[in-house]
Amino acid sequence: MPAVMMLKCDKCEYKKVTSQSSCYLTLSDGEELVLEHPAEEIQAFRATGKHLNELFKEGRIKCKYGLVCITCGEWDLYSISKEQSTSGYIGLLVARARDKDLENISCKYCGKNTLRSVMGSQVGCLFAFIKLIFLKKDYFPCPKCGKGKIKFDITGIS
Ligand SMILES: [Zn+2]
Ligand SMILES: [Zn+2]
Repeated sequence: MPAVMMLKCDKCEYKKVTSQSSCYLTLSDGEELVLEHPAEEIQAFRATGKHLNELFKEGRIKCKYGLVCITCGEWDLYSISKEQSTSGYIGLLVARARDKDLENISCKYCGKNTLRSVMGSQVGCLFAFIKLIFLKKDYFPCPKCGKGKIKFDITGIS
């Protein structure tokens, strides 16, 4: 399950609840089923009778990544086109949205190309994730007041 995080400014009241990422399985009727970590395998098998890696190869697994816009401060889930990695589903799940991947995506709210990833490289692995956030020095400036720094707080697991 992705970690639920609070983005908070240290100078003003700007606050946003976000989630790292979300993976979907396309069912035969076109519906999308949200896969919850770490039960994806069981959920997928129950819904389709197939294993995750099989479904992945068929292109039926998609991940959306949590991105926050540093211009307007809005957060949403975005699909990022990635080359299918050979490591299968887990490779997709732990893939981190890199700045390079974000260049061609514009904010759903203000249209600017100023989206930043709110997640670590280990989706679902909270300890690795926390470590990553503490090591990460590039906090982004507050979109609201422009003076504060945005801090990430993990508020729970969805
Ligand atoms: Zn602020
Ligand atoms: Zn925006």
